[in-house]
Amino acid sequence: VFRPSPALSKVGPSAITRMTAATAELKRQGRQIASMHLGEPDFGTPGNIVEAAIRAMRAGDTHYTALDGTPEVKSAVQEKFSRENGIYFENDQIVVTSGAKMVLFSAFFATLNLGDEVILPAPYWVSYGDIVEMMGARAVVLPTDAQDGFKLRAEDLERAITPNTRWLLINSPSNPSGAIYRRSEYEPILDVIERHPHVWLMVDDMYEHIIFQDEPFVTPAQLRPDLQGRILTINGVSKAYAMTGWRIGYAGGPAPLMKAIKAVLSQSTSCPCSIAQAASAEALRGPQDSVRRYLGEYRVRRDLVITELSHCPDLKATEPDGTFYAFVDWRALFGKLTPRGETLSDDEDLCQYLLHDCGVSIVPGSAFGTPGFFRISFASSEAELRLGIARIREGCAALI
Ligand code: PLP
Repeated sequence: VFRPSPALSKVGPSAITRMTAATAELKRQGRQIASMHLGEPDFGTPGNIVEAAIRAMRAGDTHYTALDGTPEVKSAVQEKFSRENGIYFENDQIVVTSGAKMVLFSAFFATLNLGDEVILPAPYWVSYGDIVEMMGARAVVLPTDAQDGFKLRAEDLERAITPNTRWLLINSPSNPSGAIYRRSEYEPILDVIERHPHVWLMVDDMYEHIIFQDEPFVTPAQLRPDLQGRILTINGVSKAYAMTGWRIGYAGGPAPLMKAIKAVLSQSTSCPCSIAQAASAEALRGPQDSVRRYLGEYRVRRDLVITELSHCPDLKATEPDGTFYAFVDWRALFGKLTPRGETLSDDEDLCQYLLHDCGVSIVPGSAFGTPGFFRISFASSEAELRLGIARIREGCAALI
């Protein structure tokens, strides 16, 4: 009999994985589904980055590298943090990993004990909770309010901290809400962190380059150099440069933490892909015009999604400040009946109805710790978005 490790007891396939599988199955059966569930850019990786990878292969960069990244990619990361965020990290304060998810995984693996707590303001990215639970620690989900723009309030954080709290994890811009913490919103939170020296702060800046507001992006390590000794700043090339398949993420943080992370990496991935590292160095150092072009596209799509959704009277979508996601409040439809007589009693019901009866795939808010909402990704073509939202609109109008 197969017996999985107890570490997996609380972890099942994520709602996104399930939605991907169900969508693929319907497509295989010949159904035409408007896909709005996937969190990855639909653009190709820019040509200069692809060329850098080809050059690396031709030059024989096809062997193991240093476990935390080649000197070349690490210095590209160092320059990035200094140029774009005004933070200086020494070489031993940087790791480059197989995707940002591996930073999260190895940082939690390196620091969490049974019973430790990690505070996750909800909505939060699906994987955070699962990784924390895998480590035998407890994800302490702290709901935020749509009225507060889904941002954590310092007093709520203060109340949630216990002697077991190890980390607070903030993701800005947020997947799925698109919320971005401004300087004035970070400051009271950082004051709370300062008052609790046993609490460390993990920030996931993955969507740093996908922001629509005029105010410049800020990150805690830049705002509070005095707290840098307990801040881990995570980022990656997946979203900014349309490089999800290359699997490169990186982070800067205090040297003792990075040393512990490296111990995990050395017995898991050994090193990230040598070719993808060369490509990522080019991404970070080379021309940034593709990033701007993608952003322009996302802005057009965001406007389209918000305008189209505004024609659905029972759905409430606030304009996201960043990312390529819209987080939509569907609570006004709660309890209604589908044309087939099924009651919509939770997010899962709505997503199943929209997928099977209306042909559009989305992700339930409950997967992000926030039931009553769903996430639409607008990292797909305008035609697909128009079709998908038209189907959502028709699907909602058909409810009784
Ligand atoms: N952080 C957030 C908020 C994400 O949405 C994702 C991917 O969906 C990641 C991290 C993972 O990025 P990577 O592809 O570098 O593992």
